[in-house]
Amino acid sequence: MSFPIKTCVICSEEFELKPDKPGFANRCPACSAPEETDSTKENRRTADDADARKAESEMNEARRRAIRDMRYRKES
Ligand SMILES: [Zn+2]
Repeated sequence: MSFPIKTCVICSEEFELKPDKPGFANRCPACSAPEETDSTKENRRTADDADARKAESEMNEARRRAIRDMRYRKES
């Protein structure tokens, strides 16, 4: 059983294009491994989450302050 030999568009290595090979058909298995891309995406997502959490906590802080001001105004 043989598979078609393809040349990787990333590293120019020849590789067997197996039907169950994950990733792109024109990339060797090593270059198909999405490690770098995934970790970059992961980092970006984490940064976004941190920003979202920061924005949310700032919003909550502003809301708390508004409620406190409202109470203060009512009491005085
Ligand atoms: Zn490659």
